[in-house]
Amino acid sequence: MSEGKALSKVDQSGSDRDFAALARDLVDALPGHLWSTDSGGRFTYINPSMREYFGVGSLTEESDWLWRVHPDDHDAAAAKWRHSLHTGEIFKGEHRLRGADGEYRWFRIEGRPSWDTYHRITAWHGQNVDMEDQKAELKARTLELSLLVDMVPSHLWRLTPDGTTTLVNKRMADFLGLDVSNVSSLESVMDTIFHPDDVEAVGVELTRCLASGDRFSMRYRLLRADGAYRWMSGRAEPLRDQDGNIVQWFGLCHDIEDQVQATAALRRSAEKLAQATQAANLSQLSASIAHEINQPLAAIAADSEACSRWLSADPPNVERGRRAAERISEDVGAVTDVIARIRALFQHKPQARTVEDINQLINEVLSLMSDEIAATTTRIDTELDPALPQVLVDHIQVQQILVNLIRNGIQAMDSTNPLRKLRIKTDRDGPNTVVISVEDSGSGFSDPDRVFEPFFTTKSAGMGMGLPICRSMVESHGGHLWVKNNETVGATVAFTLPIGLPAEQV
Ligand code: ADP
Repeated sequence: MSEGKALSKVDQSGSDRDFAALARDLVDALPGHLWSTDSGGRFTYINPSMREYFGVGSLTEESDWLWRVHPDDHDAAAAKWRHSLHTGEIFKGEHRLRGADGEYRWFRIEGRPSWDTYHRITAWHGQNVDMEDQKAELKARTLELSLLVDMVPSHLWRLTPDGTTTLVNKRMADFLGLDVSNVSSLESVMDTIFHPDDVEAVGVELTRCLASGDRFSMRYRLLRADGAYRWMSGRAEPLRDQDGNIVQWFGLCHDIEDQVQATAALRRSAEKLAQATQAANLSQLSASIAHEINQPLAAIAADSEACSRWLSADPPNVERGRRAAERISEDVGAVTDVIARIRALFQHKPQARTVEDINQLINEVLSLMSDEIAATTTRIDTELDPALPQVLVDHIQVQQILVNLIRNGIQAMDSTNPLRKLRIKTDRDGPNTVVISVEDSGSGFSDPDRVFEPFFTTKSAGMGMGLPICRSMVESHGGHLWVKNNETVGATVAFTLPIGLPAEQV
């Protein structure tokens, strides 16, 4: 078969001769490789660009193309080509072909048979498309992608729809101590890399997700190459084709061991803190009980001494003795009240609050403390707002606050201080609040920032619980207590109480 005849069967407009010449010009000019063989696969035509690539001058130098195929591709290509020659099936393949310079390039080769009227193959016509550049580009992109997959700071893996592992990235392989190139080794280790306590749960969840197509998301421990288990957060999503069928699963897991350890440490310290707080509360509570009971007990002791002194005087001062005895019985009542309140505290019973006139309450406290005040020769000045509205308070608690603040003020002014003046003031502080202040001319606070710390005291016999307890009592009323040093001398302790709160809000 001549080169011209191979194409002359096609009838186009114009004469056969004209068309044959046109066709020859066309295939000669085409940059791709075009060829024809006889029915046995021997070349009958090779276009100029193919001749040039193979470096041959004429057809006689070339029997078929198979001997030019790269040795690695040869057997598969030869088998396929023989199969096509035998059956007439279209030939399609991608193989490397050696050029005149001895270098191989990738080609996509396609050959189709021509049939005669008796359904016999008369010839094969084909085309080789050079895809070396595409292949090189693909290779570069694949390399880049696999680099990316390996460099991602997470562990990546891929599963088939039935759950067989087909890929893990380098980071994951290094973590597990696997040979990443040996995919078949992956499956065998997958069962042994999970912590024994997690393996069953992971298996159940993964099986469920593979069956349902639901996203997989779990925490589990993986065995690192050095034998240590580390907590991981794993996720996997299915990749579906156009029809919605799952074709692959892609998974990602990242190491959360440090996070898990940090959370555990945080939980442990929170537990310790809770225990410590409990212990502190207990000691604070016992101190506060002691503190609250100590005050009336000290008063009882002082009054009983005073009582016996008045009665054993000559002549006995029965009236003063009787007043001292009355105070003793009042103080005993105060102790009973304290105990009742502590019991109520444990039963979570709020104390009944009553509407009180704070000015009157202050006078009551001053008369309760009259002996103590007289013994220290302290001058008490009061500036009580006559228009002060009544407030809803726990009578005993407010009494205790005032006793504490007055006693602290007196104690801050030592006997060498010629001024020894204590001023108690009440006032409105805005429409909804009253403010009560106790101002002394004593030493002032040496460390005002620490006075609310439980057990902070500068006194040899102090307990350091007075101010913290006062503040918590004021706050339980919805008020606020603060301390400050006066500009010239002494200190002021003041607190607010809200006016007119409905009983249920207090
Ligand atoms: P305590 O009276 O047992 O010391 P407090 O809580 O009442 O406990 O007071 C704590 C500390 O605050 C006192 O030890 C004292 O140093 C200081 N303080 C309290 N009130 C005054 C005040 N009016 N002037 C100066 N310092 C005071």
